[in-house]
Amino acid sequence: MRKNIVAGNWKMNTTLQEGVKLAEEVNAALKETKANCDVVICVPFTHLASVNGVIDQNVLGLGAENCADHASGAYTGEVSAPMVASTGAKYVILGHSERRQYYGETAETLREKVALALANGLTPIFCIGEVLEERENGTYNDVVKAQIVDGLFNLSAEDFGKIILAYEPVWAIGTGKTATADQAEDMHAHIRSVIAEKYGKEVADNTSILYGGSCKPSNAAELFAKPDVDGGLIGGAALKCADFMGIVKAF
Ligand code: PEP
Repeated sequence: MRKNIVAGNWKMNTTLQEGVKLAEEVNAALKETKANCDVVICVPFTHLASVNGVIDQNVLGLGAENCADHASGAYTGEVSAPMVASTGAKYVILGHSERRQYYGETAETLREKVALALANGLTPIFCIGEVLEERENGTYNDVVKAQIVDGLFNLSAEDFGKIILAYEPVWAIGTGKTATADQAEDMHAHIRSVIAEKYGKEVADNTSILYGGSCKPSNAAELFAKPDVDGGLIGGAALKCADFMGIVKAF
């Protein structure tokens, strides 16, 4: 059975000290109020080892926001999947639209990153989603299908089963403009059918598909009530413990 998951994406926010404090707060809140879903925070590389030291990963999972497409070597400034895993992190966001847009990530580099993440025991949270123009010209289903096919369909069924997907319409990220629950459900059902065509219904039914894009405490319950929406990838609202917990409690 697929899991319900709420994952925070802190992006390039918080100093180390602020981040450790926020992680401590979320961890304490989860100890006090048991969540009805898995909860994960994905934090800057610089924070991973310290945050791992202050949280209990039985209640709060830890992830990175990216990893390199090489395992080691002369790639100045990059951080590899083995390095991420060595901090104690268990997850890694891959293919976030900001990485695709600002850092030129392609399906080819993403396939390398996914392979290295899996080889190092990390669970990829693989992001897909159309831009506003594609939503408006009606190509969004094809665009998202192509991102899944090109980025992930080289995997065996067993490895695909280790992936968490996050549908994040780019026009909804950080804009305050959320997809309606019906728009999210339509796309998540489409994504599940794309997976079923390739790997079969069982794999599709077992894949967690998160929604991301201006998700907040006030709209999370309506989104999460949809049958194919298995939780959220949360940006801005993950930076305040009360807001993040408000979303967690939507389950
Ligand atoms: C994100 O960047 O993954 C995201 C969903 O951001 P926000 O919640 O701020 O729209």
